[in-house]
Amino acid sequence: MTDDTPRRKTPPGTAPPRVYYKTFGCKANQYDTERMRQEVEARGAETTDSLAHADAAVVNTCTVTNQADADARRYIARLGREHPGLPVVVAGCSAALRAPEYRKQAPVSRVVEGSDAESVAVAVLESGAPDGLVQLTTRRTGHELDHEPIGGEILRQRLGRTRGWLKVQDGCDRKCSFCATRLARGQSRSRAPEEIVREAGLLALSHPELVITGIHIGHYGRDLDPGLSLSRLVQLLLDRVPDVRLRLGSIEATEVDDRLVELLATSGGRLAPHLHMPLQSGADPVLRAMRRWHTREQYRAGALRIAERLPVLGLGADIITGFPGETEADHIATRELVQELPFTYLHVFPFSPRSGTVAADLPDPVPQRIAGERSRDLRTLALEKGRTHQARRAGCAAVVVVEGDGSTGLTEDYLRVAVRHGTGLSPTSGLVRATLQGLPDRLYIDPVPIAEA
Ligand code: SF4
Repeated sequence: MTDDTPRRKTPPGTAPPRVYYKTFGCKANQYDTERMRQEVEARGAETTDSLAHADAAVVNTCTVTNQADADARRYIARLGREHPGLPVVVAGCSAALRAPEYRKQAPVSRVVEGSDAESVAVAVLESGAPDGLVQLTTRRTGHELDHEPIGGEILRQRLGRTRGWLKVQDGCDRKCSFCATRLARGQSRSRAPEEIVREAGLLALSHPELVITGIHIGHYGRDLDPGLSLSRLVQLLLDRVPDVRLRLGSIEATEVDDRLVELLATSGGRLAPHLHMPLQSGADPVLRAMRRWHTREQYRAGALRIAERLPVLGLGADIITGFPGETEADHIATRELVQELPFTYLHVFPFSPRSGTVAADLPDPVPQRIAGERSRDLRTLALEKGRTHQARRAGCAAVVVVEGDGSTGLTEDYLRVAVRHGTGLSPTSGLVRATLQGLPDRLYIDPVPIAEA
């Protein structure tokens, strides 16, 4: 059956309703979708990977850029065209900030303003009811958002994925002037360490790698009593969950403490030597306008201190070009910093104003054309740096987790490599010790199962 085939709705009372899930955005959102799926299944529904067989769809949206909002809107419109009559529940960050727009969009049946899994489950079941097109919105005030619990039941993630998401906190206490995520997610709330360790133990049974995710993981534990730090939590996970590789999700350069650097350097690869540290700009005037709390030099010194300790390091960053007021000299300052630091990849985006944020009202806008040119400039530089890193790694040993259909893998330093046909490797192979081969086109692996190494 193709997606063009008319959808067969499960007749009421004959079989559990089948629900399709679509996730936009970050790893925290991926985790939230899994929680939603779990809550929906706990109420008797099943998950389907086929829209053609679905009785309802959940779209978990992202609002990190205008493009992310637009992507979700376009996807929902396509659902309406290609699967008429399919009830659609919209949730997530974009739904939290733009609920009125989604309420008006066909074929949306319910809008959940945020990521609360139980509200999504209720909305999904209500979507199947005869009045399923009644618009119901779960509205959360700012105060409610700030205190919304994020723990709850231990997550059972779907089998067949080699990398599992371990969400340790939600929300953010910073106030970057361009950021809408903070508005959608509320203040930082941390899960209890015991709950995280228990969940990690269960996930490790079926995932060789767990990614520690959240919205601002560097603030993990500050709201707990007694307080805890991310590095102590990582130490706890390394001690108590032995058979899994851990990888840190996005973390601020100023929040990588000495203990964390030590763990990255001495865990024997149990904590993957990979850091994604948002930079946003390499120019102090722009960083100030962005209301970042660090200077160019603080970021630089932090990154160099980490790189000194880690001979193999995957280092990534987010950068925004064309922020209001950014001059050519500011762009050059960013470029020089990128050139100097050992980045292996970058995520570069031209600035796009997000309604409700401080930056949306800042003077001195930079023309889109110039913001785009600056993005392309930095992306080109990032590609060169990535190639240099890959060339350095060719011929070296790596520990790889095999992904998806078994044709690709991910190294400890975040290099995506090809797995050659006929190696016998699959996503169930666990962690594989390998030699990196190839270039200039692509790295591939020549594997040795880790147990035999
Ligand atoms: S640190 Fe800044 S960019 Fe990141 S989530 Fe918090 S407010 Fe947004």
